[in-house]
Amino acid sequence: MKKIRLFTPGPTMVPEEVLLEMARPMEHHRTAIYKEWVREAHGLLQYLFQTKATCVTIAGSGTAAAEAAIVGCCPPGHKALVIDNGKFAERWVKVCAAFGIAHTRLPIEWGRGAKGTDVSKAMDADPKIDTVILVHSETSTAALSDIAGIGRVTRDRGALLIVDGITAVGAIPCKMDEWGVDAYITGSQKALMLPPGLAFVAVSDRAWERIESGKMPMLYNDLKAYRKSLAEWDVPYTPAVSLVRGLLWVLRGIKERGLESIWAETAMLARGTQAAAEALGLKVFPADPVDSVTAMVVPQGVDEGALRKTMRGKYGFQIAGGQGELKGKIIRFSHMGYVDAFDTIAVISALEMTLRGQGYKFSLGAGVSAAQAVFAEGMK
Ligand SMILES: *Cc1c(COP(=O)(O)O)cnc(C)c1O
Repeated sequence: MKKIRLFTPGPTMVPEEVLLEMARPMEHHRTAIYKEWVREAHGLLQYLFQTKATCVTIAGSGTAAAEAAIVGCCPPGHKALVIDNGKFAERWVKVCAAFGIAHTRLPIEWGRGAKGTDVSKAMDADPKIDTVILVHSETSTAALSDIAGIGRVTRDRGALLIVDGITAVGAIPCKMDEWGVDAYITGSQKALMLPPGLAFVAVSDRAWERIESGKMPMLYNDLKAYRKSLAEWDVPYTPAVSLVRGLLWVLRGIKERGLESIWAETAMLARGTQAAAEALGLKVFPADPVDSVTAMVVPQGVDEGALRKTMRGKYGFQIAGGQGELKGKIIRFSHMGYVDAFDTIAVISALEMTLRGQGYKFSLGAGVSAAQAVFAEGMK
């Protein structure tokens, strides 16, 4: 049996202890025990999002929480600016279109992140905009947007800020209250090292005002119902009980270790991987690289499909390719969750062996050695 290691930016590898925790006997959700889990998880989620806001957990993939936040915060009479700089950003444009939400799409070159000035210019041009939607870490291009800078603009102008933090929260600094984010979204299968199936959104008081006032056609994803239940540490619908058991285990561990330590390790893994790319003569794709995912340009003469096939079939490493216009052009490696420096050295090693097999010219071991130098300095 081949050992498979997931380096995809979701789903990511799940620790054995979490798998065992999730295998424990089923618990009923209308019990005092379950209410205690909801209460504890809520406090830990507030730590994760760095907020005092209400944190909603939905059984669904990340898109469920994003749809809940976008639709809830954009009832008729409001207008959204959606920053479109990649495949996931595109999805939030689609949500607006599907629900008939008034919106303007602001395209930004793939690989670039959005800055405060992008938002202030767009809001100057259209004073009707009172909601800004964007992706913190655009996983499809591995680009980072400046949420702190954008938050200053939206706060000054009284607009709501909705942020898809699905490959940011729990991996890189995300400071909801300090930055003035009104709805911060994440999912279980990325930095939280859980299987897919849980979606989270932390919602500010300003956003709740908008949500409570609106009458959008929705039921399962209606955040009002989750808030009402949470007031009694309850849930409106049958929760994903096993995943919540796993979640508690993960969040306790994150709190114990401290977010700063996790952010520093993620950054170190990114630095090591970027150093390896440079040593191998591979270009890092994004102009504004994020620390949770590294995207490298596939060099001339190397077949991306064959590369990923060898990585998985021969060496057991599942990495990601490009999406949309980047299909066949980039490869992506995750630095989130249950992955460490030695896993990362291993994937770089497999990448080198694969490139060598395709006749790509470089000095074998150069990438591994560059990463080792970074990790030898950075490991605590
Ligand atoms: C993975 C990811 C999503 C997708 O969420 P699903 O869990 O597939 O619904 C959305 N946004 C970003 C930035 C992601 O990385």
